[in-house]
Amino acid sequence: MEIFVLSIFPEMFDCVFNQSIIKRAQQKGIVQIEAINIRDFALDKHRTTDDYPYGGGAGMVMKPEPIYRAMDYVKSKNSNTHTILLTPAGKIFNQQKAKELAKKSSLAIICGRYEGFDERVRYLADEEISLGRFVLSGGEIAAMAIVDAVVRLLEGVLGNPDSLKEETFEDGLVEYPQYTRPRVFRGMSVPDILLSGNHKKIKEWRMQQSKLRTLKLTGEEDG
Ligand code: SAM
Repeated sequence: MEIFVLSIFPEMFDCVFNQSIIKRAQQKGIVQIEAINIRDFALDKHRTTDDYPYGGGAGMVMKPEPIYRAMDYVKSKNSNTHTILLTPAGKIFNQQKAKELAKKSSLAIICGRYEGFDERVRYLADEEISLGRFVLSGGEIAAMAIVDAVVRLLEGVLGNPDSLKEETFEDGLVEYPQYTRPRVFRGMSVPDILLSGNHKKIKEWRMQQSKLRTLKLTGEEDG
């Protein structure tokens, strides 16, 4: 897979994309990530990427030309790239969407800043995605979250692929409680069942816990 992230602050990705799982995925050649500076595609010597809104109003709006030109560059590398525009009012990102995106061979993620994009930028997008119903200062943190959730699903990225099988949201369930050593920590003990060695009973207990946690979560989200 190749992923292009378009931003006026591409340095923000240096840290997150050069650590741990995402770093190893790139080293293994499973994913190639390119952070593109939208400013490099501006048309003037000041490399302007924003301008005042027509009709007045607070703040600045991202100009269409640099973003279209940056996308021309992306399309010259891969004409079939799936293009995502990040916006607080987009479709809310979730695990199902992460799985869907993990099947694509090429993604381009456009990060906004200021008051958002000139409306014509929306025509570039195959879809508009939101990280949640809150407003971030820019799309970079949302792009990092999406790239992380997608990359860890790619084959060969996680050391143990079974990690994905019992994860939260698989089979519509929240993951069961996990414990490691020590057996008793500050008066809190590991449930006896996990020390019993009875794998059938452990499996039943975990399923029951998953269901309880799922009910609690759905109850909270509905309420
Ligand atoms: N004025 C815009 C509005 O009311 O919708 C908010 C713009 S926000 C300050 C700047 C950029 O951050 C947006 O264009 C978008 O790319 C990104 N952004 C903000 N919140 C986001 C969210 N919840 N999910 C994804 N991207 C977000």
